[in-house]
Amino acid sequence: MASPALLMRVVASAYSVAEKAATIVRNVMAAGDLGIVEKTGANDLQTKADRLVQMSICASLARKFPKVTIIGEELVIWVDPLDGTKEYTEGLLDHVTVLIGIAYGGKAIAGVINQPYYNYEAGADVVLGRTIWGVLGIGAFGFQLTEVPAGKHIIVTTRSHSSTLVNDCISALNPDSVIRVGGAGNKIIQLIEGKASAYVFASPGCKKWDTCAPEAILHAVGGKITDIHGNSFQYNKEVKHMNSAGVLATLRNYDYYASRIPNTVKQSLVP
Ligand code: AMP
Ligand code: MG
Ligand code: MG
Repeated sequence: MASPALLMRVVASAYSVAEKAATIVRNVMAAGDLGIVEKTGANDLQTKADRLVQMSICASLARKFPKVTIIGEELVIWVDPLDGTKEYTEGLLDHVTVLIGIAYGGKAIAGVINQPYYNYEAGADVVLGRTIWGVLGIGAFGFQLTEVPAGKHIIVTTRSHSSTLVNDCISALNPDSVIRVGGAGNKIIQLIEGKASAYVFASPGCKKWDTCAPEAILHAVGGKITDIHGNSFQYNKEVKHMNSAGVLATLRNYDYYASRIPNTVKQSLVP
């Protein structure tokens, strides 16, 4: 087992560095020059906020945990400095999150999700931004756990990385409605706050740093996330970064969705 004292120190630091990251995210936007770079084409963007937050988080954690970060043998920290970059560049600000996931022995065990623009449309007198965090076996905090009304099937999926396969898979699940929003962190928030019943993404594209923190928080409240075949994700440091076989996540009723993923979709996605 990872030392509980070390784990809690890492979680506490991740919480505070995520808040510092959120300030950077807001400052870059306020300064008006996003410095957008296309990474691999196809809606894979990077901004000045991604770069500055990456440096800030990694430098802080490396300074505090020289043995950990870089991180000893088994504790690995997966950082997405800005999740939902495409939406950030388009002004859909509450889609954006900063993700810090902590894995031990290849398993996501703790996570911090900072949402820098939570409440940004609620007026000047409310606090802007929030930090959600969770530890497996302890619980998740910083939000009100809410379930979708019983019997409602609401799917949340990508807004900017759709494909025929992504859409065919959703159609096969015959949902009552579909919500299209940016960010893996944001989609997990939709699940734990009762806005959506399943996160379905039948496509490669999502990486381990997108799923580690969300996974720990979702699992801490009894949810489940896997690839589209039902395989759990591994987070040891040698693992392939890409979640090649997509994402399927729910707070409740995982089997309902897993059992309805068409074989044709599964055959198109190699883990
Ligand atoms: P989305 O649901 O489209 O916001 O994607 C969730 C996360 O996965 C974001 O960090 C995206 O950048 C990443 N992602 C998903 N699909 C792709 C893709 N086709 N190319 C690059 N990144 C992707
Ligand atoms: Mg991301
Ligand atoms: Mg990112």
